[in-house]
Amino acid sequence: MIAFFFVLVFFVGASVGSFLNVCIARWPAEQSVVRPRSRCPRCGGGIAWYDNVPVVSWFVLRAKCRSCGLPISSIYPIVEALVGLAWVASVWWFGPGFIALRVAVFATILFGIAVTDAKHYLIPDGFTITGLVFGGMTSLIGAWLMVQDPFASPVDAVFGACVGAGAVTIIGWLGEVALKKEAMGFGDTTLMAMVGVALGPSRALLTIFVGAFFAAAAFLLVVYPVGFLRARTRGETFETPLVPFGVFLAPAALFTLLFGSSLIGWYLDRVIG
Ligand SMILES: [Zn+2]
Repeated sequence: MIAFFFVLVFFVGASVGSFLNVCIARWPAEQSVVRPRSRCPRCGGGIAWYDNVPVVSWFVLRAKCRSCGLPISSIYPIVEALVGLAWVASVWWFGPGFIALRVAVFATILFGIAVTDAKHYLIPDGFTITGLVFGGMTSLIGAWLMVQDPFASPVDAVFGACVGAGAVTIIGWLGEVALKKEAMGFGDTTLMAMVGVALGPSRALLTIFVGAFFAAAAFLLVVYPVGFLRARTRGETFETPLVPFGVFLAPAALFTLLFGSSLIGWYLDRVIG
């Protein structure tokens, strides 16, 4: 019975992941996510509902479009499976209910932001506005239901939006002066407003630190060594690649939502007190 319930949660999450694929593909191109219905990006053929079952259809179709027979990217079922697993993890961790739903939706939107920012160097307003509206509304409902933890209270949500958006804008502005090129886009500002609504002011600031730490770790451990070795084997000169900050801010926000308070507590105990 429990297993069946979690399979159900997985498919609800994977279906949301399926819609997330549509948002990731269409929002950067400024297309509607509602119309037209899902179609094959190669031949434009419509996709019937039975060929659009999250994760399962990709395997049933053996990764090939039914109309044109050309391959379907494995990115689609991977995104669906990851979102499905995130929803299962959220329900497992918080128990079925309002908080699990909030965490799952927040994580899904952040995932969409990280993928789009990595692929297109932009954060569509569709994600951040949805996150802002969802965060604001659920904060009010949470206050009314008196279940809020780990999310911020409505008052903290308003402060958090201002502090998060303000701080990342100032940092981007300083970066621009220091690097003499655009360090952050407006997408990072709206992203941090959305994060601030969910986390409140102090954890919004912590998100920026954690994001910078993730970015530094990724560059030192992966981006530099891999890029350097690849350039070396090809006899090219190594150029520092540009990785947008939103790619790191998004997972940092989820990490800080789940562990930020313990991290702040630990810091206050060890370092100050
Ligand atoms: Zn096709």
